[in-house]
Amino acid sequence: MAHFEKKFQIDLPWPVRRIRADLVIIGGGAAGCAAAIFAKHRRPELSVLVLEKAHISRSGCLAMGLNAINAYLGESSPQDYLAYVKRDNYGICRDDLVLSIGERLNRMVAFIEGLGVPFPRDSNGRYCKRSPRSIIMLGEHIKPLLARAVLKSGATVLNRTPAVRLLTGDNGARVCGVVGFNMRSHEIVVIHAGAIIVATGGASGIYRPSNPGLARTKTWYCPYNAGSGLAMGIRAGAEVTSFEMRFVALRTKDVIAPTGTLALNMKLPHRNARGEPYLLLKEQILGRRLTTAERLLFTLEEHQRGAGPCYIDLSSLDKEGYRRLIENYLNMAPSIVLDLLQDPAHPKTRIEICGSEPYINGGHGMAGFLVDTGRRSNLAGLYAIGDAAGGAPKKYVSGCCAEADIAVTSFLQDYSMGDTLVSCDAASESLAIQQTLKPLMNSSELTFTDIEDRLQKIMEEYAGGSTQNYECSGDKLLFARSSLETLAEHAEEVGAVDGHTLSRAHDALDRVLLARVLVEHLLARCETRWPCYQSRVDFPVSNDLEYRLFINSCMRNGRISLIKRDVTPPYQIKEGQI
Ligand SMILES: Cc1cc2nc3c(=O)[nH]c(=O)nc-3n(C[C@H](O)[C@H](O)[C@H](O)COP(=O)(O)OP(=O)(O)OC[C@H]3O[C@@H](n4cnc5c(N)ncnc54)[C@H](O)[C@@H]3O)c2cc1C
Repeated sequence: MAHFEKKFQIDLPWPVRRIRADLVIIGGGAAGCAAAIFAKHRRPELSVLVLEKAHISRSGCLAMGLNAINAYLGESSPQDYLAYVKRDNYGICRDDLVLSIGERLNRMVAFIEGLGVPFPRDSNGRYCKRSPRSIIMLGEHIKPLLARAVLKSGATVLNRTPAVRLLTGDNGARVCGVVGFNMRSHEIVVIHAGAIIVATGGASGIYRPSNPGLARTKTWYCPYNAGSGLAMGIRAGAEVTSFEMRFVALRTKDVIAPTGTLALNMKLPHRNARGEPYLLLKEQILGRRLTTAERLLFTLEEHQRGAGPCYIDLSSLDKEGYRRLIENYLNMAPSIVLDLLQDPAHPKTRIEICGSEPYINGGHGMAGFLVDTGRRSNLAGLYAIGDAAGGAPKKYVSGCCAEADIAVTSFLQDYSMGDTLVSCDAASESLAIQQTLKPLMNSSELTFTDIEDRLQKIMEEYAGGSTQNYECSGDKLLFARSSLETLAEHAEEVGAVDGHTLSRAHDALDRVLLARVLVEHLLARCETRWPCYQSRVDFPVSNDLEYRLFINSCMRNGRISLIKRDVTPPYQIKEGQI
């Protein structure tokens, strides 16, 4: 059990609760839950605390369930996995991170199955594959099962408790705590920790969502992942990597459900408005498999040449096939089932597809914290895993669990070395509490929605949103930079009246900060490396001579500084070249 100290009231609108724990995990999603389970399994005597802004039973990307594990090796090797990731990622990824994930993928699938998630098997007892690295799972219940295992492990969970600021000690050299608040009981929580693992996922809501009004949260990436862990880390001085490699998902239009269920589970073809299997034709012309980014790019190209909209063709499905499709989606994206069953007498024969808005994401893409092989950030005491950790794309849910395993191992090594006995600077703590509560004290009528609307308009129009075909140019990005600087100043006045609006106000502030970092990264990469994810109309081709490298950044004295890092091991820092 984490040790709870007596509550006390200081001159603040909300009371403060102080807690101490050996290990604090911020974010109880896939990676965070796995980390809590692994840590308690290996060292039951340690106090492990999970801080979750929603409720661990149904939070984060897995909230609705999953119907496949997208990173599984089976008989292939970690080197095969690395080769695939590297090819799909245009030659840039962290080999060490990807390999360390690859070494654990099969074990992590066994871990997930051991939670009680059903995996169908073929007549030889093997998992049913939907592609060389993806296996089918009936995972509607994956999140409640993970949550149950966390509680059984003896870890303490604080639900409805968003973390807001990291606490530092040793004059800022070490992270040793976190400040958050309970959205329902209206308490500030100040936690002093031996170490912190950030597992808050990536960031949605930086670009304008494709659905308006009340449907605006119908996004592909979890709409409540605001990248807060990344923002907290950046404010504390952590280095982040590859923000410019945004992730854009090719998904079903309007309902924004994953298309893998159609294309991989059901083997249905993509077609343009004229009925041509345009992706297949492209593969035949190029004589190779398309990259993930190219599938999106070539879909956009069909629109540009007047052959859109594009869709996935369901016409070959018989009654049983249609039933299986619905069953598959019920495990992962139930909202599309309402669409599929709109008129049961006339099953749908096509589902339109489109690109989502761009996200910052280290699970499909590789934007996130810079970490070493042990998932330590550049700040002592701070680790990052899952969609919040950068450098290793295509890790998906099993890779997120693998990173949890790695970070816990590093923490236990560091901890046994007595590396974690630092107390937080008092000034850092009182500043963090003030900053957490500030929106409640602000008298302005500025709301989080006002800020996010403005942010999303700037990013959509000047930093390569979906309506701009994801294309950026230096001049537009410079305009985005100055507009964001102004917005960041105004955003400080955002108001809140209760726990819910306070959480949303901090989400908005975090999104603005991440957008500013993203724009600096987009400006710095003067080439087009990843079509659609990072496309520069003023530098339309890739430039291996100058840009086969990582673009990283960190905040120094309130300014964002860029750093270039080698793309080949041992990943030395080369500062001052941008
Ligand atoms: C729609 C969708 C479909 C996917 N399909 C597949 C698939 O079929 N197969 C596959 O292998 N992978 C799939 N993935 C990828 C996989 O789900 C993710 O990579 C994985 O869940 C990420 O885990 P995570 O723990 O990093 O983030 P999450 O699981 O999103 O967890 C982040 C957690 O942090 C919490 N949090 C956020 N901010 C704060 C804060 N300030 N304080 C406290 N808590 C906070 C959130 O509430 C959330 O619980 C899919 C992802 C999405 C979005």
